[in-house]
Amino acid sequence: MTFLLDALGTLVTFDPPAPRLRALLAERHGIEVAEEEAAAAMRAEIALYRREHDRASDRAGLAELRRDCAAALRGALPERAHDIDVDELVPTLLDAIRFFAYPEAADVLDALRARGHRLAVVSNWDVSLRDVLDATGLAERVDAVVISAELGFAKPSVEPFAAALEALGAEPSGAWHAGDTVEHDVAGALAAGVRPVLVRREILSPAPPMPPGVPTIPDLRGLLALAV
Ligand SMILES: [Mg+2]
Repeated sequence: MTFLLDALGTLVTFDPPAPRLRALLAERHGIEVAEEEAAAAMRAEIALYRREHDRASDRAGLAELRRDCAAALRGALPERAHDIDVDELVPTLLDAIRFFAYPEAADVLDALRARGHRLAVVSNWDVSLRDVLDATGLAERVDAVVISAELGFAKPSVEPFAAALEALGAEPSGAWHAGDTVEHDVAGALAAGVRPVLVRREILSPAPPMPPGVPTIPDLRGLLALAV
């Protein structure tokens, strides 16, 4: 069997970056901001990143995108931060966002592989996802990684799913795709002929509207029951 896996919200996540950003701004740049001011600036940065991340299809594009993100962050900070050099703000921004793997991710990937299943990450991300998967110990636990910025197509387009299946030499009919959004993961998988499973870690909000028959699991351990 084949398992395709979304990255953010499915395999990896990050701590709220505002407290760390606030500390780094004080420590490295001598600028004091309130936590809410740091949070507002991060929201502006993340909004730009979400719109633009597929520009970062190579390292040069990534460097340019990161500079633009740092500029967006600076522009959304209080005026006293506007003199910070953008190039000096890039490492501060990157260090404020710390990705980590969900606690069960490595064990579940290892267990799936031990049963002979093949695994691919299918993510809407820039080229730096490879660094994140390396740093979190997940890169060596999957057989392929498909990144929207490298491919030129993002979920819910069918191309990322097709590229992952091709990389694994697999057919859509024997594949599952696990992801945390209906919009990108469930819809895209269905369009690509892959069976979707929604990873819904946050159960405080109402269930999202979803096509019938799509299983929901609270974390990745739920995949082990599907992998019969
Ligand atoms: Mg996601």
